Amino acid sequence: MKGVGPLRGDLLKKELGIYTFQDLIDHFPFRHIDKTKVETIGSITPNTEYVQVAGRLQYSEVIGVKQAKRLTATIRDKTGELELVWFKGISYVEKILVEGTDYLLFGKVSFFNGKPQMAHPELEIFVPQKAGGKAFLEPIYSTTEKLKARGLNAKTISKLTHQLFSQLQAKDIVENLPQDILVKYNLLERSIAYRAAHFPKYEAEFDKAIYRLKFEELFIAQVRLALVRIQRHKAFKGVVFEKVGDYFNNFYNNHLPFALTNAQKRVLKEIRTDTAKGYQMNRLLQGDVGSGKTIVALLSMLIAADNGFQSCIMAPTEILAQQHFQGISALLQNTGLEIRLLTGSTKVKERREILAGLLDDTIHFVVGTHALIEDAVQFKNLGFVVVDEQHRFGVAQRAALWKKATIPPHVLVMTATPIPRTLAMTAYGDLDYSVMDELPPGRIPITTVMRNESHRVQVMEFVKEEIAKGRQAYFIYPLIEESEKVNYEDLMRGYEQVKSFFPEHQYNIAMLHGKMKSDLKETNMQRFVKNDCHIMVATTVIEVGVNVPNASVMVIESAEKFGLSQLHQLRGRVGRGSEKSYCILLFGKLGSVEAKKRLNIMCETNDGFKIAEKDLELRGPGDIEGTRQSGALDFKLASIVNDKELLNLAKNQTDEILNEDIDLNLEKNLNLKNYLQSQKGKTGWSKIS
Ligand code: ADP
Ligand code: MG
Repeated sequence: MKGVGPLRGDLLKKELGIYTFQDLIDHFPFRHIDKTKVETIGSITPNTEYVQVAGRLQYSEVIGVKQAKRLTATIRDKTGELELVWFKGISYVEKILVEGTDYLLFGKVSFFNGKPQMAHPELEIFVPQKAGGKAFLEPIYSTTEKLKARGLNAKTISKLTHQLFSQLQAKDIVENLPQDILVKYNLLERSIAYRAAHFPKYEAEFDKAIYRLKFEELFIAQVRLALVRIQRHKAFKGVVFEKVGDYFNNFYNNHLPFALTNAQKRVLKEIRTDTAKGYQMNRLLQGDVGSGKTIVALLSMLIAADNGFQSCIMAPTEILAQQHFQGISALLQNTGLEIRLLTGSTKVKERREILAGLLDDTIHFVVGTHALIEDAVQFKNLGFVVVDEQHRFGVAQRAALWKKATIPPHVLVMTATPIPRTLAMTAYGDLDYSVMDELPPGRIPITTVMRNESHRVQVMEFVKEEIAKGRQAYFIYPLIEESEKVNYEDLMRGYEQVKSFFPEHQYNIAMLHGKMKSDLKETNMQRFVKNDCHIMVATTVIEVGVNVPNASVMVIESAEKFGLSQLHQLRGRVGRGSEKSYCILLFGKLGSVEAKKRLNIMCETNDGFKIAEKDLELRGPGDIEGTRQSGALDFKLASIVNDKELLNLAKNQTDEILNEDIDLNLEKNLNLKNYLQSQKGKTGWSKIS
């Protein structure tokens, strides 16, 4: 390309990842300036955020040395003066500033000693526009100090891009969307959209261009994910659960302690359909805390048993494995099904028995922890795997379970960390996916309040009243060890503090934290479960799954230190019984606005999906658990937070097109097929016959 020699070429690669023409046109401007819209300096107020002004440079000077070195300048128009300041790139800016010259400036305004100031403004020589002239939107590109030093500033990049567009013909930017979709959504053609995203003739054209390109990004991503899913179904044969038999029917008709919710029925049906098809099910089940995932898992396992297959449930902690084991054993009484518990602390003799029983198929179900993954654990006929609280397990660990059968077993991954639908669609779009968005009937909503630490005495009094009614309480602390030098409550100090309010001769207090020996953990947990103690002081180990229906108060210390989804998980430990429950969020200082927002959201709603939605808005998609490395979120223009509607549109359109033409062989879909094939490595397409 003219204007790009080896040196500049290298820099473009290193600094901006631009290797090809495509990369250059994918380097979209972050803003356009409309030179006809110039404000006066006098109109700037403390409420002004970004502003474009023009004025004459009065003087500029470099002051300070080393770290404190900065370049300041003053610009004046008819209405006032504006201070400019640079802390970086000083020598570069110094060279281009000439006193007495008129500049056009854009930047963020701040007020300093009552005067407006702009740090690191974008600036260029001002050329007055004809009055009433047509708006001209000029693209502004991001660049780096190193590129600028080689003359590749925003302007040069703009020139290069402009030059590239004049070289390219419409056919070089190949349409990748089917014609009928373009018509249906009134989308600009691809080549026009690209050009207009960089060099729009007017604002409305720019908006249309961005709309089209965002749709394309989301749609292509959805199609890719769907194809990966379809391809996995083809590639991994699965065991076929042909029938629903006596185990299931007997249990369903005679032992099920309650009627299923509609959501539970729906998900069960989804699993039933999946496991009968002959491909391996890999289903993510999302259900808020308390939505009743366990019973869905158990009913699925009964279907497996009806078809002669064994099942296992893997839980992330010993406590949870215990609890599942006890709960399910109780339900399975008189069904003739054998269930066992296998964890790291299972005694040698019992372990030997269990391993033998799994091999000769006398044990139908096994519940356990990571201990299930060990090579020594072999099954005669493993057909169904349940992984509870998915985010605690890595992909490798799940894969290890698959390998325990010649034909990979069906896998049901259950998580109580609700993630917003938009995120699930993009981050988990390649999985089979179920949502349980309904709680069993009759639950009394948990009342959540936030209280400053200065109200600790009242809070403790309240807890005492609840305990006097026969209830139990949790106190949760964010830290485990005093050694961590953070100035908020840690567990041990918290324990002492709780004791000072709840004297030992009157109250029994148990403690639980991650560093405890597992048998002690177990003993303490059991004391709480059996109502042998009034209070459980714990760290977040308690977070996942623990079920003590008689516990009705949860006090979370230093609540401002917890993330939203964690708070929601913790709160889920109460509200599990027939009594009204309370969650009290104690806070010290609310350092950030965000911390306050988090606590407010917790007080406003109990709905995990709403909370997840807010969490996504507050933190952005990059930070949400389990999605960091997914790559599914690397959009250039689209955002799953701001473009929800467009994402839904793209998803629906994807379903529509693949339902009609799964191999994309119809004439009208060839654009799309060719495009996907040209994107080697980015799609599972190459593996599809
Ligand atoms: P989670 O989805 O958080 O794992 P659980 O499976 O532990 O939830 O269920 C929470 C509680 O709700 C359990 O005590 C369970 O027995 C009960 N439960 C589940 N489904 C129903 C239902 N359809 N009706 C009434 N209670 C139910
Ligand atoms: Mg659970």
